[in-house]
Parts: sequence; C-alpha cells; structure tokens
Amino acid sequence: MGPGPSDVHPRVLTAMSRPLVGHLDPEFVQIMDEIKEMAKLTFCTRNELTFVVSAPGSAGMETTMVNLLEPGDEAIICIHGVFGNRMADIAERCGARVIRVEAPWGQPIDPQMISKALATSKPKLVSIVHAETSTGVLQPLEEISGMVHAGGALFVVDAVTSYTGTELLVDEWGIDAIYSGTQKCLSAPPGLSPVSFSTRAVEVLNNRQHKVQSWFLDLSLVKDYWAGAKRTYHHTAPVSALYALHEAYRLVLEEGLENRWARHRQNHILLRDGLQTMGFEFLVDEPYRLPMLNAVKVPAGIDDVKVRTILLNDYNIEIGGGLGQFAGNVWRIGIMGESCTPTHVNTLLSALKEITNL
Ligand code: PLP
Repeated sequence: MGPGPSDVHPRVLTAMSRPLVGHLDPEFVQIMDEIKEMAKLTFCTRNELTFVVSAPGSAGMETTMVNLLEPGDEAIICIHGVFGNRMADIAERCGARVIRVEAPWGQPIDPQMISKALATSKPKLVSIVHAETSTGVLQPLEEISGMVHAGGALFVVDAVTSYTGTELLVDEWGIDAIYSGTQKCLSAPPGLSPVSFSTRAVEVLNNRQHKVQSWFLDLSLVKDYWAGAKRTYHHTAPVSALYALHEAYRLVLEEGLENRWARHRQNHILLRDGLQTMGFEFLVDEPYRLPMLNAVKVPAGIDDVKVRTILLNDYNIEIGGGLGQFAGNVWRIGIMGESCTPTHVNTLLSALKEITNL
C-alpha cells in the first residue's frame, strides 16, 4: 500500500509462470497485438502508435522526450513534485531549452501560469504529470490541453500513477504523447511502460532533423518490432512480463474501465473518512486529491519511521514515506489496482489505530 508496486492478481502470477516462447514466435506476436489493442482501449485512444516500452515508467518518460525534442527546441515543463523535475532533467539532456512552470508541492499547476509561459515562448511541447505520486495531486488536464494546442505545441502527459485508476481520455483531452507504468493501478509487475503517440506527434517524429540520441528508445527503430507489417528483431522482449501485462489488461477490461475508476474513488472515500476520524490531515485540497495515492501529514508526536517499521514487520503492510521536501512528515498511502479493496483499507486503518492509539 505504498506508491507501487501494487498487489498482483493470482491470474497475473500464473501468466508469468507460463513456458517461454521466442520474442518473434507467431503466438507471441499475437499477444503483442492484443496488448496494443488493450492499451488503446485503456488509454481511450485510436492512436496507431500505441505500444509498450520494455522498461519502467522512467523509460516511457525518456521515450517521449528523446523522440520529440531536438537540440535547440524549447519545452515548457510543469513541475509540482519529483516527477516533473525528472522530466525537466531529461529534456535538458536532449539539448532543449527548458522553461519551468512550477507550483508549490501539494498544489496543482495553475493553467494561467502556462498561458503566460506560452505568451513569451514557442515551445515544441508542454509536459505535465497527471498524478504526482510524490505529493498526491491530481492535475486537471483539459483546459491546459486547449492552451497548449492554441500555442502550436504538443501536449505530453505522465500517467504512470493515474492510468486505469481515474478518468483519463487521451483522444478527447487532446493528449499527443503519454506514458505510464505497469506497477500501479494496472497491477502488473514493474518494468514496462505503455505509451501512445498522436498523429500530430508522429508527424513531428517523421520530420526530425537529428538522429534520436538513444538507440534503444528510438521509435523509428522500435516501431518495426511492435507495429511493422513484417515484424523484425529490435531487442529481445521481456516475454514473461508481457504475458503478465496481457493478463492484467484482461482483468481491467473484464472489470470495465469506468467501474475500475469508480472502485478507486469508493475506496479512497472509505480510507479518507477513516483517516480523518483518527485526526489525520490530507496534504492536498479535496478537488485535487488523487484517489489512488493518499498523502497525509504525519501527526505531531508520531514517529514516522517507527510506525512504518512496525506496520511492515508486525502487520505486513507497506506504506510510503514522504519524498524530497516531504521526507519525515508525510505518508503516502497507495490503494492501486489489486491493493484497492475495502479489506486493504480496513486492515490498514485498524493497524494504524493499534500502533498509534489515535
Ligand atoms: N512518473 C510518476 C508520476 C511516477 O510515480 C513514477 C514512479 O513512481 C515514474 C514516473 C517513474 O516510473 P518508474 O519508477 O517505473 O521508472
């Protein structure tokens, strides 16, 4: 019950233990095709260039940046926590001039700040984190998307934590490039990153002046393995992890995407009410709170590390500590995917009550 990985369904574990086939075996290619279709359904997109990077969420982040940015480009990067900072770092490594738009940790980015930045720059892209796992903030996206397109830029979104846990409509919201991870609300093992690129983004890729600086993440090469008419070797795909993701996607679609979003919301309310009854305060204002990652202030007189150690050793429950400026004074409680049940919530609340006497 930390910020991920979340629990994994037994069907996903069973899928991982299936015998291996080759990464170009026709049966495996069929599984890859089904994964792409399920990725499109869950991103709510028709984007043809939708597939899974063979590495964790940070590689999805890097894939969007290294493919869309070239030396000398401008990029507006929104920063309201750890992961916005990581995007800015990667964009700079691509040789881009980064314009930072920042909000205090625990608050969303104000769209007016982006509008101001757009008025004085000509960025290739504007990038933002939908669910900031370091702070528990859910960033509204639609208004910002309109501004970004009016400014002629691409809209890039980090959906590592929000994907399949709260509403996320890639086509309707005009998102041009998006990446996620598998270890959060999807409840698959870590190590893969579903990504999707709009036709506008693909045009930008096709018109690049320089080679992409990363061979492994260069979409012009990897797409022939995932999407080419004749599949050709690019790298040896992590076959077992993709079996697991295939099964995790099937579970998501059996539940129904909207039902899954609603389940995360309902269990968030159960957790919120229980924590507030014990006197916990949330870090983030109600309208911007993530359902799947609950950031609460550690109450005065409570020893952060001691309580989390007892939870782990005596109750077998992991919750996350604060990151960066929140280290020591914030807890991050994840209710993601298979870890998002009333049993998980009630067990944690009882354990916290016993340990803290709150
Ligand atoms: N972006 C966000 C919002 C995240 O929460 C994380 C990881 O927690 C990442 C990016 C990086 O993902 P990974 O750790 O899978 O590389």
